Amino acid sequence: MSIRKIKTAIKKFNKFLITAHINPEGDSIGSQLALASLLKRLGKEVLIFNDSPAPHTLRFIKGTEEIVAQMKEGFDFQAVIVLDCPDMSRVGKVREFVTEDKVIINIDHHISNENFGIFNWVETDISSTGEMIFQLFRAFRMKIQYDEAVSIYAAIMTDTGSFRYSNTSSETHSIAAELIEKGVSPYEIYTKIYEANSIQDTKLLGETLQTLKVTDDGMISWLWVTKDILKKTKASLEGTENIINFARSIEGAKIAILFRETGTENRVKVSFRSKGEVDVNKLASFFGGGGHTTASGCTVFGKVEEVEKRVLKEAQQAVKE
Ligand code: 5GP
Ligand code: MN
Repeated sequence: MSIRKIKTAIKKFNKFLITAHINPEGDSIGSQLALASLLKRLGKEVLIFNDSPAPHTLRFIKGTEEIVAQMKEGFDFQAVIVLDCPDMSRVGKVREFVTEDKVIINIDHHISNENFGIFNWVETDISSTGEMIFQLFRAFRMKIQYDEAVSIYAAIMTDTGSFRYSNTSSETHSIAAELIEKGVSPYEIYTKIYEANSIQDTKLLGETLQTLKVTDDGMISWLWVTKDILKKTKASLEGTENIINFARSIEGAKIAILFRETGTENRVKVSFRSKGEVDVNKLASFFGGGGHTTASGCTVFGKVEEVEKRVLKEAQQAVKE
């Protein structure tokens, strides 16, 4: 389905709920805020409701304070726009408010997207949902304002690893250039998001790097954020998002894995990264998760050692294929 259909759908309704995945990061928050602003300028009523709050490093973006983590009573929306989610289970507790009578509009860039909406706009070659929202502004012929530019820039910057990952295209850079012309300061946004780590998070990085292991052939590297590390460093899981890149950065590593104990017994959050040769979306899908070819995740249930064994076995299989 094309962007034109999404435009038609947006025109049709007046009251929208906007949501994104649990533990929202830059792309979710940035694209939500920019989209909410666009809809408001089009005269629509909008509420952003997420399962979990925005990480503190993103709270400088104007509008985050209006995002709710509980449904607003009496907000009788007609349509829900789901951003950056491959399937409806990813919206967490928001799902129970999406009753049969609500029209689902799905805007996403995950290869594992299940086209779960009535309206689906899925572009797996686009770097980020933020970049798609930028295109939506164009489609509506709406000039992007400064705060919207900041939101979209933050979305694109975080999902492309600061314009380094394989999803970065010339179009991504053109859009970034246009946003900079609107007044966005790349350095300011970079420092706010990536140079605001707490001492605890930095200590956690040190402890986590100590857990680094690689297979004998060097093709799989992995790290653990254990309960003990979290307890010892007093860090939050929020600060663990980019640690996996250290595992991927090892020469010869084809799959990098970050295991995180979630705090719930027998429940491990697993992230995968590849350098492009191995399809880690497929690997995560095996465990009921998903994502992109080079970045994916899932939750695996079981005891720590058992989870590690099962995941490494599948990863070894994926490398062989
Ligand atoms: P991360 O490892 O940073 O949490 O996520 C990497 C990518 O995989 C993101 O695009 C994210 O949306 C996706 N992803 C992470 N965890 C899950 C999961 O449990 N299920 C699905 N379907 N996708 C996930
Ligand atoms: Mn994204």
